[in-house]
Amino acid sequence: MIRRSFVAAALALSLVPAGRLMAQSEAIDAPMLARIREEGLRHSQVMDHISWLADVYGPRLTGSPTMDQAAEWAMKTLRSWGIANVHQERFAFGKGWSLVRFNAQMIEPQVMPIIGMPESWTTGTKGRVTADVVLAPIRSEDDFAMYRGRLRGRIVLTQPEREVNMLEGRIVLKMNEQDIREALSEPPPPPPAGRGGRGGPPGGRGGANASGPSLQQRIARFQVDEGALALIERGPDSDMATGGSDLSWQTQKTDGGTFGVGSGGSRDESAGTGLPSIVVAVEHYNRMARILEKGVPVRMELEVETRFYDETQPRAFNIIGEIPGTDPVLKDQIVMIGAHFDSHHGATGATDNATGSSAMMEALRILQTIGAKPRRTIRIALWGGEEQGLLGSREYVRSHVADGTAVKPEQSRISAYFNIDNGTGRIRGVWLQENHAVQPVFQQWIQPLDDLGVELLGPRAVGSTDHASFDQAGVPAFQFIQERLEYNSRTHHTNMDFVDRVQKDDMVQMATVVAWFAWQAAQRDAMLPRRTAGTH
Ligand SMILES: [Zn+2]
Repeated sequence: MIRRSFVAAALALSLVPAGRLMAQSEAIDAPMLARIREEGLRHSQVMDHISWLADVYGPRLTGSPTMDQAAEWAMKTLRSWGIANVHQERFAFGKGWSLVRFNAQMIEPQVMPIIGMPESWTTGTKGRVTADVVLAPIRSEDDFAMYRGRLRGRIVLTQPEREVNMLEGRIVLKMNEQDIREALSEPPPPPPAGRGGRGGPPGGRGGANASGPSLQQRIARFQVDEGALALIERGPDSDMATGGSDLSWQTQKTDGGTFGVGSGGSRDESAGTGLPSIVVAVEHYNRMARILEKGVPVRMELEVETRFYDETQPRAFNIIGEIPGTDPVLKDQIVMIGAHFDSHHGATGATDNATGSSAMMEALRILQTIGAKPRRTIRIALWGGEEQGLLGSREYVRSHVADGTAVKPEQSRISAYFNIDNGTGRIRGVWLQENHAVQPVFQQWIQPLDDLGVELLGPRAVGSTDHASFDQAGVPAFQFIQERLEYNSRTHHTNMDFVDRVQKDDMVQMATVVAWFAWQAAQRDAMLPRRTAGTH
């Protein structure tokens, strides 16, 4: 917890031009806030939503059967609260994929059960196989000669071993004074072209460019042509994770059986043609590599079964629902709250993003339970395909807000979109997305949330999640500032993103804060101010 005096001082120093804080006063609906707080803080059901999504339905990989099952639950639950117009909006995605079975162990020179997980959209081994393991870290085409003829029928370790450090770095990121100063400061100049955003083209990594196949693709082709049986990797070379959005908030990855795993294959017509590809815990990987370096043979037993699903109807979807507006003039205007509903497959997507989806659902439940009758319509959107490149929110924007330069009806009717996608940590404020005109508005909204730790309005534009789709279409769109906690060190896209890492008190706070923001935005006389053109 930071000292109030520090926040006040930091705000005063944050280069905000004089006059920005001299805005008209916002109507603060104190009786409504009291009811939202009572329902949200004392009768919260948010942990129950998270447990249903993450424990019962588990990984919600877009296009997979568990994504459909989780969606059925969410829609049924929203309807049971009386949320109106609950429906899916489906969009084309490509082939679906799910993991059926995975077992791996080293069997020579000793038995060692291996912690690992196949990458999504990769193939199986056609039953249980036993094979020699070979260390073949190919870094360039020059290495092909060295490994030609040595991969056939073998399980290939594709990287050199990686140094594993003690956990002496920062693991849990609770914002300190320096982090807060950074959050409150103007963002750095835009990075050079080619940086930022999420990696890789859609449909798998290492896409081709104008000059032909990428190095990644040429290496993959070599491994297939040489007859390798399966590929094994241990994740990135660094055990440090960045905070994203040009924030210097680094944390040390925990290792110790925890690893990141995402997509390793394509969803298009070429789906299912590559090799089985598995990420394993770095310690297990390193042990096998060190044994092989001594010239001692390593054998593994491996069984991978995966399933692909044809796209007979559009496989992906967004879930939409709303509390209809009641003001004769304003009810066609919309305040949107949303979060991505999908996850990667490595664990259960508890903090990425059952937390965000559940907080948004709970915010609607709070408002509905206390009988809120908003002037504007409050709409929830639970997105699909976020992990493959913000596909769901982009599709929503394309069909309702703006398709390129073609403006659609909701562009002028959505007052704001609020998003959550940074894990389980409580809301500390809002990233203003360089929309400085909302600063005095939000400043007044967060004043009565002081005791809940909501104090920060950070000017910078953050990216890599669904509010960016709306932001690009000119709609005021915001990601809340959250405590990152273990998000980047332990849970984000890992095999250990389970409900145990979700922080109950923070989740209760999060849903309550969202309900308040949605209510204030829905009741305000005017829509929220839009960013002046050309400032972003
Ligand atoms: Zn996410």
